[in-house]
Amino acid sequence: MRTLMGPGPSEIHPRVIAAMGQPVIGYLDPVFVTMMDELKELLRYAFMTENPLTFPASGPGSVGMEMCFVNLVEPGDKVIVCRNGVFGGRMLENVERTGGVPVVLEAPWGEPIDPQRLADCLKAHPDTRIVAFVHAETSTGCESDAAALIRIAHEYGALTIVDAVTSLGGSPVKVDAWGADAIYAASQKCLSCTPGLSPVSFNTRAIEKVRARKTRVQSWFMDLNLVLEYWAASARTYHHTAPGNSLYALHEALLLLREEGLEAAWARHRRHHLALKAGLEAMGLTLLVKEGARLPQMNAVRVPEGVDEKEVRRRLLTEFNLEIGAGLGPLAGKIWRFGIMGYSCKPENVMLCLSALGSVLSDMAYPVEVGQAESAAHHAYASLHTEAAKAAGGRGR
Ligand SMILES: *Cc1c(COP(=O)(O)O)cnc(C)c1O
Repeated sequence: MRTLMGPGPSEIHPRVIAAMGQPVIGYLDPVFVTMMDELKELLRYAFMTENPLTFPASGPGSVGMEMCFVNLVEPGDKVIVCRNGVFGGRMLENVERTGGVPVVLEAPWGEPIDPQRLADCLKAHPDTRIVAFVHAETSTGCESDAAALIRIAHEYGALTIVDAVTSLGGSPVKVDAWGADAIYAASQKCLSCTPGLSPVSFNTRAIEKVRARKTRVQSWFMDLNLVLEYWAASARTYHHTAPGNSLYALHEALLLLREEGLEAAWARHRRHHLALKAGLEAMGLTLLVKEGARLPQMNAVRVPEGVDEKEVRRRLLTEFNLEIGAGLGPLAGKIWRFGIMGYSCKPENVMLCLSALGSVLSDMAYPVEVGQAESAAHHAYASLHTEAAKAAGGRGR
């Protein structure tokens, strides 16, 4: 058994594994149809939206991404792509392949997208139809201010495509409050479900743009016009064979999220992030992202000078069964990525990780005192407990 603390997939709750083992039924079976209706309702809860067109696309997060771009971008449409990591780069690829005219707003890896720079870019390109950005950049652990970016895009009459793959379930994703027009996520990050499903949601402005297209969507499989019929029709017809058992799993994973409550899930990610951070810093390590833009569920840490980062990961995996992530692109070899997503976000993982890392680093002659990090994490947990107790006491008075 591996402990999964990388960039996804995250660990899967036993209830979700059990749900996956249910007997296969046809996707037009009334029982299946009822499950799907519940699933869509649960996704609306997770996304905090009333959008009727909210559903799990069949395929990984990349399919959700592509579904947004192939439908919303028509050849010749100007699209501002905000890029501060790997996934912004993928968005750019999508714009190019759909025949859109990309304008790239670059920001350094590890820094959020500056809303003022987006405003300036829109001023320089007033014919922009769409603004696309990654809310939670998994490659760096950086969060951008989605509400601000969307508000500015709308001021200039542009629609928005938002990547919420790593944020959904781990930090606030408020589709309706933000006014996000098209948004996609994935099943295997903070939702802790089996990989291969991509929750998506489209508001009426986005649907109007798709309906008003002069050209056909080049992808038959992802054409929302066909999917609309499939999901909206009271008499459901065949579009593609639904991945039934994966959908059962997502249904169960979302039930778990609703039972815990969105706010409680966000608070849990924050609590364990603070403990992990305290432990890492006690070992003399530093986080890549500045305070205020740090994602609790994805912690990028600078590799100290002289440490063989690959060897550290290899030993964590082979000696402790612990998977963490490596740096990508310009950050390859420079950072480690510690994910605490969904079911992986729990005290035993934080403590194992700190203990294993301390032990490996110490073995490799890096000056760290074994046990120091665990102690710091313990104190962080303890002070959070005290704070929580005080807050509860305050409310009681
Ligand atoms: C993981 C990830 C994706 C891609 O999801 P897949 O399920 O791997 O296709 C897209 N965007 C972000 C921010 C991600 O972290």
